[in-house]
Amino acid sequence: MATMMGPILLATRNPGKAGEMKRLFSASGFEFVSLADFPEIGEIEETGTTFAENAVLKAAGYAALARTAAIADDSGLEVDALAGAPGVLSARYGGPGASDADRIRKLLKDLDAVDGQGRSARFVCSIALADTDGRILALEEGVCPGRIASVPSGSGGFGYDPVFIPEGYDRTFAELSGEIKNRISHRAQAGMKIMRYLLGFTAV
Ligand code: IMP
Repeated sequence: MATMMGPILLATRNPGKAGEMKRLFSASGFEFVSLADFPEIGEIEETGTTFAENAVLKAAGYAALARTAAIADDSGLEVDALAGAPGVLSARYGGPGASDADRIRKLLKDLDAVDGQGRSARFVCSIALADTDGRILALEEGVCPGRIASVPSGSGGFGYDPVFIPEGYDRTFAELSGEIKNRISHRAQAGMKIMRYLLGFTAV
């Protein structure tokens, strides 16, 4: 069986994502560290044009800088009525300095004239796993279809969760429990596929 040096760096500065990933991978038997454990490491720019490209850039880059295996995700919201926007620019929607609440306000304003069926959307997440030399061992994608609510509701989760209603539910991700989100979300689906790789390695 292949071996992998632990611990694994969960390469995100987003506390919402870090918490979800820690829960997703908790049964893998690996020890996880975060970027807070490497204050000397700077930001890796997300210069890719796809979620997959950015996940690979970050996993490979942070692994090489920290000399640990690394898991990185890139994720975002694709809204059909906005031709797939904000997409890979989800974190930057609304411009520099905008908060999650500002981004949600802008999204609802941009969808002002769109009702019912037209508000279909999906969260997409790519997750990459890199070894201690920055080589990519796995790259997986998860998609969670749903629609954009007309007003924000709920206080759980992060980002666009207060306006995203996943398919099969009538409440937003911010209203649903963390347990449900961690079962059906885009990040959960990509993460479960990455888990299969982790379970195939022996932590040393
Ligand atoms: P990035 O992957 O760091 O580029 O950021 C992706 C952005 O997409 C986040 O800042 C959120 O705004 C949004 N996003 C990604 N995943 C989720 C989620 O699970 N819930 C809500 N918003 C999300």
